[in-house]
Amino acid sequence: MPKDRPELPPVEELLTAAVTALGGVERPGQVKMAQAVRDAVESEEHLAVQAGTGTGKSLAYLVPAIRHAAEKGEAVVVSTATIALQRQLVDRDLPRLADALEGLLPHRPEFAILKGRRNYLCRHKMAAGMPEDEDDQLFDPREVSATGRMVQRIQEWANETETGDRDEIVPGVSDQAWRQFSVTARECLGAQRCPSGADCFAELARERAGEADVVVTNHALLAIDAMEDFAVLPEHDVVVVDEAHELVDRVTSVVTGELSESTVGLAVRRAGRLIEQGVADRLQEAGEDLRALLAVAPPGRVDTLPQSLGMTLALVRDAAFACITALGPRNKDKDDPENAGLRKAAFTALDEVHDTAQRMLDAFGPAAGAGEAAGDATGEDAAGAAGDEEVHRAEVVWLEEGRGRIPPTLRVAPLSVGGMLRDKLFGDRTVVLTSATLALGGTFDSLARLWGLRTGEWTGLDVGSPFDHPRRGILYVATHLPQPGRDGLPEAYVDEIAELIEAAGGRTLGLFSSMRAAKAATEALRERLDVPLLCQGDDSTSQLVKQFAGDAATCLFGTLSLWQGVDVPGPSLTLVIIDRIPFPRPDDPLASARQRHVAATGGNGFMAVAATHAALLLAQGAGRLLRSMDDRGVVAVLDPRLATARYSGFLLNSLPPFWRTTDPAKVRDALRRLTAGS
Ligand code: SF4
Repeated sequence: MPKDRPELPPVEELLTAAVTALGGVERPGQVKMAQAVRDAVESEEHLAVQAGTGTGKSLAYLVPAIRHAAEKGEAVVVSTATIALQRQLVDRDLPRLADALEGLLPHRPEFAILKGRRNYLCRHKMAAGMPEDEDDQLFDPREVSATGRMVQRIQEWANETETGDRDEIVPGVSDQAWRQFSVTARECLGAQRCPSGADCFAELARERAGEADVVVTNHALLAIDAMEDFAVLPEHDVVVVDEAHELVDRVTSVVTGELSESTVGLAVRRAGRLIEQGVADRLQEAGEDLRALLAVAPPGRVDTLPQSLGMTLALVRDAAFACITALGPRNKDKDDPENAGLRKAAFTALDEVHDTAQRMLDAFGPAAGAGEAAGDATGEDAAGAAGDEEVHRAEVVWLEEGRGRIPPTLRVAPLSVGGMLRDKLFGDRTVVLTSATLALGGTFDSLARLWGLRTGEWTGLDVGSPFDHPRRGILYVATHLPQPGRDGLPEAYVDEIAELIEAAGGRTLGLFSSMRAAKAATEALRERLDVPLLCQGDDSTSQLVKQFAGDAATCLFGTLSLWQGVDVPGPSLTLVIIDRIPFPRPDDPLASARQRHVAATGGNGFMAVAATHAALLLAQGAGRLLRSMDDRGVVAVLDPRLATARYSGFLLNSLPPFWRTTDPAKVRDALRRLTAGS
């Protein structure tokens, strides 16, 4: 500890003060977690902590984090996956914690929230200093007027906002409308050169973050900070990654590149204002070739590079490079401040097109054209189907079908982000990773591998849950049902769901593996049951959850976002129904490529990718049931493979320790008793 800093109270004392001030009770799991975080920070060893719902895990990491910040005089970064948790930390937990600890620390703990630049209103763009890129892409007059209304709302809000933070706008606005008022970090002119630099919202947020003890951010910005050459977060030596089960997916999104007629078109429009027409036309023609090719290509993973696609990608890359050259030296802006914003925007779009096309070509490496045909590799039996080229492949390219105004889009992403995380995130700082769901199959190994951590570089701790799972919850697996098929929801499943809901008197959250299945179940059961049935998509998800929570008889059916985002304590949620084990779809290009890659390098691709993915989601879904100490209920999994398949042990060990049964009569009785007692 530096000599000039006063000795601080121990973590346990600070935690007790915080818990008392917040009106809570001391929980053994919380104390254990706070001590483990303190030890990890002191020993500079990475830590993974699983802390079940109700542990009070945010206080358990915030208290040692604040203590460390006060001791070292350096910020601790806390990263979250969802806006909901960010808000909970910044609006609720941190202000109350600062009040509670103020008298025990040398100064009142300061905190700030910092997001990526594109989340803040750009005053320079607002003052029409940059092009409005999207206008000429709008063809549907209804969309034009909807976007127009949002633009108007943003303009009104812009006159009043003190933070410029997009999340302040309620209800939210579309990306399309927001893009007209924001820039990416690459498009930003830099505060020194920007005429609005002195009042820039993003710069002000950075300034505030620079003075804070705790900086709350999201996984995307954490990844950008770790990977880019320039720092976006203040200097820090400790990071807490909450909702750490989402880290790999969020980081993968950040490093996924895309190429389509839209991305090329945007670069053409931006460059066309500044360079000779003939040079821009060349890129436009290459973009048209790409559009024609993607319009007829089958969606899915591109395993071998067809000659036509290889040639078109090279054409796009070279035409983008010609435009970049025609724009002249990048540092010319100081002689041409008028056009600085336009030039920066053009460089950004052209670099993106050039670099992504090159990256896609590189993905096929020297063995391009020699690979095997694409296939369904997500099934358990696909483990041995990989060829030699899979061993050397680092990235995967796939084509996504067009939807509405979004044209068919080529994407490229790394097969693994573990190496990147290991080098850039875990390299020179201590990282604490936490979530209610980290131990899959009873160990942290699956996720540690995905994070790129090796044995000996981290410790794992499961502080358990304050809930008495075996006494408060039942896990029911419907082994008498057939295995789920490819042709929608089997009739027997609909009958089973109806019987369970009748026994529970409504009170059901239905988590389906596809929107199709959720809708099919809703339609079939609305005719049969006399309880209100809501389906995701009927209204905004938050509105639906509110209705569901407000009326015990109401049921809510939906898919992915409900698996992780519903927090409804009390009798409104007594039964969670899961229709099938949520393996990635067989045509998920990234999951299937990752699975084949693991298999080609000697591992068990199915367990490392598909089973791990399913275990995480299952645990998250089952975690919706008990949200408070008084909750009781049933998690019903209709897919019999959870009890019978060879991998079922791994999945079952990933779930909370509920009492288990396969007897439908027992479960219905239990539900009737619960309903009668509530
Ligand atoms: S510094 Fe960048 S983000 Fe800020 S107003 Fe200027 S261009 Fe916009």
